[in-house]
Amino acid sequence: MCKCWGHEFRAEYRNLDKLKRFFPDTCIAAFTATATKKVEADIASSLKLNDAKHFRAKTHRNNLDIKVEPRITNGRKQILNFLKTHKGLCGIIYTFTRKEAESTAQFLCENGYSSKAYHAGLNPSIKDEVYDDFVYEKIDIVVATIAFGMGIDKSNIRFVIHTSLPKTLENYYQEIGRAGRDGDMSYVYLLYSKADEVKRKIQIEDAIDTGYKQTGLDKLEAMYRYCVSNNCRHKIIASYFEDEIDDCKTLCDNCTKGEIEQVDLSVDAQKFLSAVYRSEQRFGTNHIIDILRGSKNQKLLEFGHDRLNVYGLGSDKSKNEWIAIADKLIDIKAVNLGEFRVLKISGLGMQILKGKEKLLIDSDKLGIAQKFEEENTQLSFDEKLYEKFKSLRRELAQEHEVPAYVIFGDKTLKELASKLPLTKEDMLDINGVGLVKYEKYGKNFLSLCKSIKEEFGEKLEDKIPLKKLTKTYLETFELIQDEKTVEEISQIRDLAITSILSHISLLFEHGKISKEKKAQLLEPLTIPSEIQRWIQTGLEHESLKELRKYLYLYEYLNKENN
Ligand SMILES: [Zn+2]
Repeated sequence: MCKCWGHEFRAEYRNLDKLKRFFPDTCIAAFTATATKKVEADIASSLKLNDAKHFRAKTHRNNLDIKVEPRITNGRKQILNFLKTHKGLCGIIYTFTRKEAESTAQFLCENGYSSKAYHAGLNPSIKDEVYDDFVYEKIDIVVATIAFGMGIDKSNIRFVIHTSLPKTLENYYQEIGRAGRDGDMSYVYLLYSKADEVKRKIQIEDAIDTGYKQTGLDKLEAMYRYCVSNNCRHKIIASYFEDEIDDCKTLCDNCTKGEIEQVDLSVDAQKFLSAVYRSEQRFGTNHIIDILRGSKNQKLLEFGHDRLNVYGLGSDKSKNEWIAIADKLIDIKAVNLGEFRVLKISGLGMQILKGKEKLLIDSDKLGIAQKFEEENTQLSFDEKLYEKFKSLRRELAQEHEVPAYVIFGDKTLKELASKLPLTKEDMLDINGVGLVKYEKYGKNFLSLCKSIKEEFGEKLEDKIPLKKLTKTYLETFELIQDEKTVEEISQIRDLAITSILSHISLLFEHGKISKEKKAQLLEPLTIPSEIQRWIQTGLEHESLKELRKYLYLYEYLNKENN
């Protein structure tokens, strides 16, 4: 009885079965905010309700915009980025530990956000004070452990952030449910990492009730799968509570992101599956990754897995990248999780292993690409503009009843926000805007561009339309900071010198490197005098473009003739 309520459920509730004994003829109604059908049945049976009628409301919250992302280091930059676009709104940030709640609140204050920490370790008078400050809007943000928010009476909480993986989807759904009770648009943002899952597992393993342990681990697994999935977030939550809904189309990151660059990792997937296969499908993800990365871990050596021919075959990839590959294989059910989370290869997995099926991963899921994204400094204004485009897209999507990305993908939207076209021609120049889409939605977006130009005219003139400093530029920048020369950087990065030179120019334009530094980098670069002479004579006759063509031809014919 009460097995899936778990040991955490208040013991008093279990005593409620006496009610039926004391008042046999009285009506009893039981209410719960979040419960699977299993729990619902469990509640009914433990209350000894006969022939109880069950009513379930829809799980879908259509004013919550959900976003989930892998956390980068401690996630602080991601939180700041989020807050920049939601300035002045009030919200709750949930952290894993009390200490983290304290330090995050302090960090936010230092960055100009009024916030306070709230957790069970504070003395009652301070807790009351924080609670009141939040409810009466003296502060915007409360950073709390899960202790905060139960029964809170505040309808305009505009965002809920989780800085780590919640324990269960029930917890998560309850906590995000505190946002937007007034029905206005609200935002929920979850940052997770594989390490959180491990920490949570230890917590569960420590639980006394062994029956609960397995349930707890399964629930944690569902929570983690929710994070790494590519499916509609609202739909996953609904289906967890055994409710069926359509994709939200406009209200979650997975539904709105549109086309994301796909990376073909079939060969790596084969290595991974081969390691699973060769270790006889008796181990979990971490062990397989250890084999691939050539770890000297004791358990691995004891099983003699250092003698497998896949041992060390994946040392070119980081642990995080391998985790992303494993997650994807689990998400598409190429491997299934057996007892104790042992990996078993499915039919699809065998096809991938044999090279008959491919494994494509969204580039943003690889856990590496995002490392530097937060470096963008002067972007808060751009992001504000981008938000305006996003809400217009949302309105149109709801009006036309189509998924948001069908209108324009995120990439197109960002380009619109940065170029602000004012004419049909300019708009058609933007990636992802064709005539058909222009006819349907063009006017709405043009008038938004126009109103932005009117409102922010001066500010826009100050804006230098610089190319964004993406990861590749910043990797070069790191090497420059390590005092490497242009040639060394070109070797380390395996990129042509010309590419490194273009990086240097952009880094200079962004003010990342000084004029002196630039000169110092270019100084050792020389062109041998005879080539310089030859180029100059060449240029007297031909344009540089033609010269290049002949050089290419020369190189090509030389190769063919040898
Ligand atoms: Zn969705």
